[in-house]
Amino acid sequence: MPANLKLRPRMQRLLSPAVAQAELIGIGAWLAVLLTDCAMIFDLPRVLFTLGLFATYWVHRRVPEYFVWRTLGVVYMLLLSAGFAYIIQANPHLQVFALPLAVTLVLSSALLFIVAQDFLVSAVLVWLVMWPTIQADLYMGVDIYLFIFCASSVAIGFVLNFSCLKNLRSVLLVESEFRELAQTDYLTSILNRRAFMESFAKLIAAGESGYFIMLDIDSFKLKNDQFGHDVGDKILCAMAMCLRNTHGSHSVGRIGGEEFGVLLLGDDPAVAADYAMGLLQAIRESVAPPHHYTCSAGMARFGAQADMSTVLKCADSNLYRAKHNGKDCVYLDGDSVGVSVG
Ligand code: GH3
Ligand code: MG
Ligand code: MG
Repeated sequence: MPANLKLRPRMQRLLSPAVAQAELIGIGAWLAVLLTDCAMIFDLPRVLFTLGLFATYWVHRRVPEYFVWRTLGVVYMLLLSAGFAYIIQANPHLQVFALPLAVTLVLSSALLFIVAQDFLVSAVLVWLVMWPTIQADLYMGVDIYLFIFCASSVAIGFVLNFSCLKNLRSVLLVESEFRELAQTDYLTSILNRRAFMESFAKLIAAGESGYFIMLDIDSFKLKNDQFGHDVGDKILCAMAMCLRNTHGSHSVGRIGGEEFGVLLLGDDPAVAADYAMGLLQAIRESVAPPHHYTCSAGMARFGAQADMSTVLKCADSNLYRAKHNGKDCVYLDGDSVGVSVG
């Protein structure tokens, strides 16, 4: 997915509170204008505008769908300007406020849209709705100034909207790049220890249950000594690729130098054991001789609200047994769940 599309939900989440506050201010101004003329409060169109504004605000605050959320922003601006235009038309002595009001509406909406086209659509609609109320004898003969104010307000609003969005987008892009770097192991490109443990903690907190597999490459120091660190690094990458390509896991990560972790969901120990055995087989076949390698695994079950460090210790002690009982095998609950075929 292009980076810009990935940012959309974040931008929506970030801007939503400001948009809601600005909409409340608009509704406050609308109510204040209504209250200055108490006799007309219960005039039907005014009641409908008021209900429409509150309903749009209410739905806008709650709706998660991106396109609906964007559209409601434009609908709100249209309703607000149409409401004010209606009041000004009903009270000709208020016509003097129409021009500053239109400029204010357009400029203040510049920071409320997360797509520049939405701002332009909204600005054009505001001007179209307000224009009949502005054209009065007051400006007879100097209409050109009206066009200048109209064009300037849209242009300034567009520059404001565009530059704010551009800056916000680049800050969020940099932030997401750093976030990804902070979660990724630099050599193998899978989750690093911190991100893997966070993913584990989230699973436990969500009440999920399953199996944690701790894997450790066998006699890796010997491989490094025999073939050099660059070959050792390639083996680590091949191992990570195996973990990634063996489908059925929830998450995989590098949790130490040559130690890896896998999280499986599901309560069936036979399924988990089969998965681990399949993984060891894929690992055996992942690099051709003479650089081929094996690894040992210790498994531990986890349930809802399990203590993560107890699960890790349990997997570690099973891994210890696997190492001391011939390596290249999987242990669960103190017993081997399969025999090496390598
Ligand atoms: P065992 O079968 O008992 O696990 O023995 P082992 O040799 O795998 O374990 P040991 O802990 O003695 O050695 C681990 C080695 O892993 C030592 C270290 O040089 C190597 N290692 C750790 N991180 C890296 C790395 O990023 N790249 C390379 N090439 N080697 C690494
Ligand atoms: Mg180790
Ligand atoms: Mg090892």
